[in-house]
Amino acid sequence: MKLEKIFPLTKAALEKIAADEGTPFYIYDEKAIRENARRINAAFSVFPSFLNHFAVKAMPNPAMLRILREEGFGADCSSLPELLLSEMAGIYGEKIMFTSNETPSVEFKKAKEMKAIINLDDFSHIEFLEKCAGLPELVSVRYNPGQLKLGNAIIGNPVEAKYGFTREQVIEGFKILQKKGVKRFALHTMVASNELNVGYHVETGILLFEFAAEIKQKTGISLEFVNLGGGVGIPYKPEDKAIDYVELAAGLKTAYDNTAVPAGLGSMGIHTEWGRAVTGPYGYLVTRAIHKKDIYRQYVGVDASMADLMRPGMYGAYHHISVSGKETAPHTETYDVVGSLCENCDKFAVRRILPVIECGEQTGDLLVIHDAGAHGRAMGFNYNGKMRCGELLLCADGATVRIRRRETIDDYFATLV
Ligand SMILES: *Cc1c(COP(=O)(O)O)cnc(C)c1O
Repeated sequence: MKLEKIFPLTKAALEKIAADEGTPFYIYDEKAIRENARRINAAFSVFPSFLNHFAVKAMPNPAMLRILREEGFGADCSSLPELLLSEMAGIYGEKIMFTSNETPSVEFKKAKEMKAIINLDDFSHIEFLEKCAGLPELVSVRYNPGQLKLGNAIIGNPVEAKYGFTREQVIEGFKILQKKGVKRFALHTMVASNELNVGYHVETGILLFEFAAEIKQKTGISLEFVNLGGGVGIPYKPEDKAIDYVELAAGLKTAYDNTAVPAGLGSMGIHTEWGRAVTGPYGYLVTRAIHKKDIYRQYVGVDASMADLMRPGMYGAYHHISVSGKETAPHTETYDVVGSLCENCDKFAVRRILPVIECGEQTGDLLVIHDAGAHGRAMGFNYNGKMRCGELLLCADGATVRIRRRETIDDYFATLV
C-alpha cells in the first residue's frame, strides 16, 4: 500500500496565500500536529509517566513550541538560544531537557538558572558543571552504548559517535554525583536518526531498562526516568511505512515490565526527545516553478533553493513533491527540480516523474515539497546570498498566520562592519 501524500489546501487557497506572502514559504498544519501529539501521548500513557521534550532544533519557532506545550510536551534544547526560545514559549523548569555537548559554561549557567534538566554529555562535565554553575538536585547522564548497539544509517556507529559516557563512566559518574549530594538521577541515550524500524527503538529501550537495573544494583540509585532520545523516523517515501506508536509503546512496555519492574523500578518514567516525528510530516515548503530548461535532462527551476531546505542536497534525501492542482493528473514527465544555488547538488528531486509543469514567475505552478516540517527551515543558510524564506501556520480554524517573516537583504547586511 502506497502512502497518500496529501496537502491540506486546494490550489485556489494556496494561490491566495502565495499572492499575499510571495513564494517560497513554509507552511505548518497545526491541526495535524496537535492530533499527532495526542496520538503520541495516548500511546505512551501505558507508562507511569511520559514526557516528550520536543527537539527545538527540528523547528525552532516559539509559535510551534507553544502549540506543543499546550499538548503537554516539553522541550529538548542544546544551546542558549534554544533555551531562550523555550522560555518565550512558556516552557520552563523540568519540562526542558538540556542535552548539549561541548557546552560553554554560560549555557550550563542559564540551564541551571532555568531549572532545566541538565543531561551531561561527558564524565569531565560533572566537575565542569559543579565549578561553573553548581550541581542541581537532578542530573541526567547521556550514555553511549558503544559496541553494545549497532547504529543506524544517519547517526552512524555509536563507537564512532562523539556523544556520551561509556558504560563504566556512567556507573562511576553516578557514584560521584551521589557523593556530591545529587539526589535525583536519569539516564539518556540516542543512537538513531530517522529510524523507521520499531524493533530498533524497542531494543534501545531494553538496553536502557537493563542498564537502569544494573545501575540500581551497583549504586543503589533508582533512576527517576530514562530518556530514549529522538530519532523516530517518518515515511518520506510513499512506500515507507510510518511507525505505529501503539506498537512501539507496547513493545517498550513489555520490555519495561520484564526488566525494570522486577528490578524495583516500576515507577521509573519514560522521556523522549522526538522532533522529526512530531512535526516533520505536517510541514511543507511551497515554491513556484519559474524556469524550464531542456538540455541533456529536463529541468524545472523553482524559487526556493537548498538554502531553504538542504536535506535533498546534503543527504540525497527524498522529499515527495506534488504539483498543486495536478495531484491526480497523469505523471508523464521526468524532471530534475532544482534551486538557484551555484552548486549542482541544489536539487529537490532528481529524475522525478511528475505531471507537466508550467513555469513562470507569476504564472508557474506551485510545487509542494512534503515532509519539511522538521529539520527544514531550521537547517537553512545564506550561502550564495540566499535569503531564507518565512514560515506560516495553517491554524486549526483554517486561518493562516505568519510566524516568521522571510529574511531581507538588510538582515543579511546587519552583521557587516
Ligand atoms: C537531533 C536530536 C533529537 C531529535 O531528533 P529527531 O530525529 O528530530 O527526533 C533529539 N535529541 C538529541 C540529543 C538530538 O541531537
